[in-house]
Amino acid sequence: MNDHFDVLIVGAGSAGCVLAARLSENPNLRVGLLEAGSPATDPDIAIPQQWPLLAGRDYDWGYRTTPQAGTAGRSHDWPRGRIIGGSSCLHAMAHVRGSPEDFQAWSDATGSARWSYAGLLPAFRRLESFSGGSSEHHGADGPLPVWLPDAELSPLVRAYMAAAMASGIAWLGDHNAGRLVGVAPNSLTIRAGRRVTVADAYLDGVRARTNLTVVSEALVHRLMLSGTSATGVIAEISGKATTLEAGVTILCAGAIASPLLLMRSGIGPAESLERAGVQCITNHPGVGENLHDHLLTAGNVYRAKKPVPLSRLQHSESLTYLHSDDLTRADGAPDVVLGCVAAPTVTECFARPAMGSAYTILSGVTHPTSRGRITLTGPAVMTHHHPVGTCQMGRLAGSVVDADLKLHGCERLFVVDASVIPAITSGPIHAAVIAIAETFAADFASLHY
Ligand code: FAD
Repeated sequence: MNDHFDVLIVGAGSAGCVLAARLSENPNLRVGLLEAGSPATDPDIAIPQQWPLLAGRDYDWGYRTTPQAGTAGRSHDWPRGRIIGGSSCLHAMAHVRGSPEDFQAWSDATGSARWSYAGLLPAFRRLESFSGGSSEHHGADGPLPVWLPDAELSPLVRAYMAAAMASGIAWLGDHNAGRLVGVAPNSLTIRAGRRVTVADAYLDGVRARTNLTVVSEALVHRLMLSGTSATGVIAEISGKATTLEAGVTILCAGAIASPLLLMRSGIGPAESLERAGVQCITNHPGVGENLHDHLLTAGNVYRAKKPVPLSRLQHSESLTYLHSDDLTRADGAPDVVLGCVAAPTVTECFARPAMGSAYTILSGVTHPTSRGRITLTGPAVMTHHHPVGTCQMGRLAGSVVDADLKLHGCERLFVVDASVIPAITSGPIHAAVIAIAETFAADFASLHY
């Protein structure tokens, strides 16, 4: 294996796989992709109905929050993929870009129209192969299948969508066609009944490129720095300590691990680094701050009068976005989401009714205002699978990366993953994470580092 790369990507998750594939299209760039986990071998990963059972298996980092005062002192499981494909191997496969208005906060934070909805639309179209074909909103030739199911929807979910419309909520039909408020079935990253991970979509077809090296079981401990310039990483590869040099290092380790890697390397809030016994090289108060996530109720579980057939999709088949003060309003960014799950969904506080005997209506806030932080001694947060913001992009104090996703005050170092999202989108964030990576890759050749 090379020990010097032009570009070294840390983390083969959703963003990392996109970057590895896109940047290695240039045969003159030697690209390395390091992943702490192994390639995906569990056959359950591909079966959409199995997704709730994947958390906790040996390819989950298995994070857990500290007890949360805001949730009756409970600690919460915080699954994250430790595997080639990252969290796209565990997630629920719902593909929702967010409301176009959500991205105003991103372009305001950075001063760059690149991160507005209009700026990201080419990437949203480029990444997908939409089942409904190409249009001004959709692409049909991208690596990731985005499938809008119809005949496969559960009769329960059809009844739920009809009931929503009867109460005055607008029919939307497609979450990703330029508006988010209304009723729609979920678009899913499923092809021919099987989950398509980002590794399946982006990486599998390019593994043979001679300028791309993918290394699994490569746990990165920290960055190597020369002054304020990143020169590579110190990692443990298959149990052996190794140093790898790089012209540019790109952190794609996710919203939890990217800020931790920066802090372990001496880049973070000086006081908290000192407390953890890490020498501070660059005082960066924003690293690990601004952590937020969608809070979702486990939901109301209803006993069904008739048997509820097992979902042919991934159980949670429809998300309905709303304005809580006016159900008939169909414009703008929603403040509430309701989800229909064709199965009983309960927290650890309740006994789960038998499958087929009950269903669930989930609810959540789309723009949570509470913020937590990641620190080297343990996160003090509450989450529901969409953590963002811990290396937020922006030009003001508290931001960690600039509009090019380059770390403020450091050279040859970028962060490209969910951590750079300054303010969460209304919906699940996977589509936005891939669009960020696609946009970064498209602009990479013109970046200064
Ligand atoms: P990840 O995909 O998590 O990638 C980070 C990678 O870095 C991992 O492979 C990890 O192993 C690796 N890594 C970390 N530390 C190191 C290290 N020190 N050395 C080497 N490698 C390292 N989003 C949606 O849009 N729709 C959904 O339905 C949905 N459902 C979800 C359900 C669950 C259970 C979960 C866990 C997430 C869900 N999400 C969903 C969220 C979505 O999957 C994530 O936001 C997205 O995958 C994050 O991408 P990322 O590239 O930032 O990080």
